[in-house]
Amino acid sequence: MKIHALQTGSVRVKQRFLVPSTGPRRQLDLFLPGAWSQPLPIHCWAIEHDGRLLLIDTGERASASNIPFARFEVSPEQELPGAVARAGLSLEDVSEVVLTHHHGDHVDGLLHVAAPVRISDAELRFSAEAFPRLMRRVLRQPLPPGFSPTPFSIAGEPFGAFPRSMALSDDGRIVAVETPGHTPGHVSIICVDDDGRHVMLAGDATDTLEQLHARRADAIGPDPGVHVRTLETILAHCGAHPTVYLPSHDPESAARLAGSIVVSAS
Ligand SMILES: [Zn+2]
Ligand SMILES: [Zn+2]
Repeated sequence: MKIHALQTGSVRVKQRFLVPSTGPRRQLDLFLPGAWSQPLPIHCWAIEHDGRLLLIDTGERASASNIPFARFEVSPEQELPGAVARAGLSLEDVSEVVLTHHHGDHVDGLLHVAAPVRISDAELRFSAEAFPRLMRRVLRQPLPPGFSPTPFSIAGEPFGAFPRSMALSDDGRIVAVETPGHTPGHVSIICVDDDGRHVMLAGDATDTLEQLHARRADAIGPDPGVHVRTLETILAHCGAHPTVYLPSHDPESAARLAGSIVVSAS
């Protein structure tokens, strides 16, 4: 198995996005003036395994509109085709795309891919609800044209600390697990690498490893309680299995993948 970190440009977010206020200002602060972060990577991932090439998310496009709490820095060359080519791979070889959630910086690159696309049924339902639809209109972040992924439900065997999973490979070494919080239908992908470590492609389950250890819900998830319970589950999993934890926007994710650096207990 070979896992590639692809990067489709960067994004700066408000500091209040990374470390939100509590209470009613949690979401409000995102729309008020405030300090900005350093550029954070917009990662997606390619997994070569058993003769198949799986893409987890598809990254952002150069045409993405800035929003009150995120400024995108993506050139056309940094979009998915360039990112895939830089990894020595070809988009034509992609067998399947699995999406962690429906946000633009994870799905906008779909425009470049012809392979079948899947997303969790809970996430697809959420993306069609009134509030996310309103936010996409207000923030000028439409779903990519023709967005119609096939829904899956995670109803299989427990996987470590996760009560249910869904196999994404015949040998069960790649699975999807539920990690709700950032969005209600958010999933993460766990790959059991050749040395038995669990490489967790965590999407936006958290922005950083620090946020996971801090058990801190983010600023935009609809229910912080659900989010914190997910972080507890992820930490329990990391405690029971050597886990390389890779959020999509963590500046340290690519180095942790390259060095197989597992989450330490704390
Ligand atoms: Zn997101
Ligand atoms: Zn994201």
